[in-house]
Amino acid sequence: MAGEVNRQWRLVARPVGMIKESDFRWAEEPVPAPGENQLRVRNLYLSLDPTNRMWATETPTYLPPVGLGEVMRGIAIGVVEESRHPNFKAGDHVQGLLGWQDYALSDGRGLTVLPHNPALPLTAYFGLFGHIGMTAYFGLLEIGRPQPGETLVVSAAAGAVGSLVGQIGKIQGCRVVGIAGSDDKCRWITEDLGFDAAVNYKTEPVRESLRRHCPDGIDIDFENVGGTIMDDVLGLINLRARVVLCGLIANYNATEPAPGPYNFGNLLIKRARVEGFIVLDYVDRAPEAAAALGRWLLEGKIKYRIDEVAGLEQAPLALNRLFEGANMGKLVVKL
Ligand code: NDP
Repeated sequence: MAGEVNRQWRLVARPVGMIKESDFRWAEEPVPAPGENQLRVRNLYLSLDPTNRMWATETPTYLPPVGLGEVMRGIAIGVVEESRHPNFKAGDHVQGLLGWQDYALSDGRGLTVLPHNPALPLTAYFGLFGHIGMTAYFGLLEIGRPQPGETLVVSAAAGAVGSLVGQIGKIQGCRVVGIAGSDDKCRWITEDLGFDAAVNYKTEPVRESLRRHCPDGIDIDFENVGGTIMDDVLGLINLRARVVLCGLIANYNATEPAPGPYNFGNLLIKRARVEGFIVLDYVDRAPEAAAALGRWLLEGKIKYRIDEVAGLEQAPLALNRLFEGANMGKLVVKL
């Protein structure tokens, strides 16, 4: 690898509000050589996720914060170039927390070898399988427990997770209403993905539109956003509704404590169950989600969409697309 460099983004400041490129430092280091029981991966795609923003803050979440000076943590798909580890061989495609860089050394922990399937683009492991598919699949089926005929509302509905949640809800026989931030997104989820209705929260009064689209009330709130959108949903939940608290993206860039949701008390009155949910708890059951999602893909019952940005250089600012709503479907960086 003489002469080649490992380009990296290292976190150097805790972001305040939206991410700035100056929160990161561009570094160029020698390409690392694997030691015993290690392997070197060349990253091909980075997954940009709202959780990247949380990992960059100093508050511990379900993982410790990324340390200042460290390579930014991120999920990536790459190809094994050199392996001195018995479970991996050169040419394997792998997925894991490989970071915002061209090359990563790994001891194999937390790394998944992707099945060889020429019919499937690698980005399907971000858009449909992997952490996104598992979040939608287990979050909805395990926490939301949808029943045929029930009404499911999903926020950030044209995003990576939300777009799958709504389609799985349809497969389960629910009436599905999505909330999204543009007419284009609303059209996509209703016309292409089969949602029954959509609410553009930027142009419509959310509570009134939801009341119209959910005449029988709301049985499941798959919550990706929080804030006033969640507040409007909670105002309409039914007896024994389930709230899947998957994400609160409206708060991730907040510089002040977020007010509300003011209807949180309705959870109590309606004996609703709110259950926090982190996809990591379902890692052992990943094959189950992959089998079902793969079957639905083959049967034409589910679609996924990749929103691709080109070049590692773009990673820090491209992350903001998630918070501006500029992405449609799963945001990835092609290296
Ligand atoms: P998305 O692809 O859905 O991208 C984020 C979307 O959120 C944007 O496109 C935007 O769409 C919407 N959004 C951003 N800011 C706001 C805001 N202030 N108010 C309303 N909508 C907003 O990302 P993911 O699918 O990766 O993640 C969706 C949610 O799921 C996130 O909250 C994330 O943290 C969570 N998550 C949780 C996991 C878990 O294990 N619990 C695992 C994976 C994800 P729009 O144009 O509609 O505003």
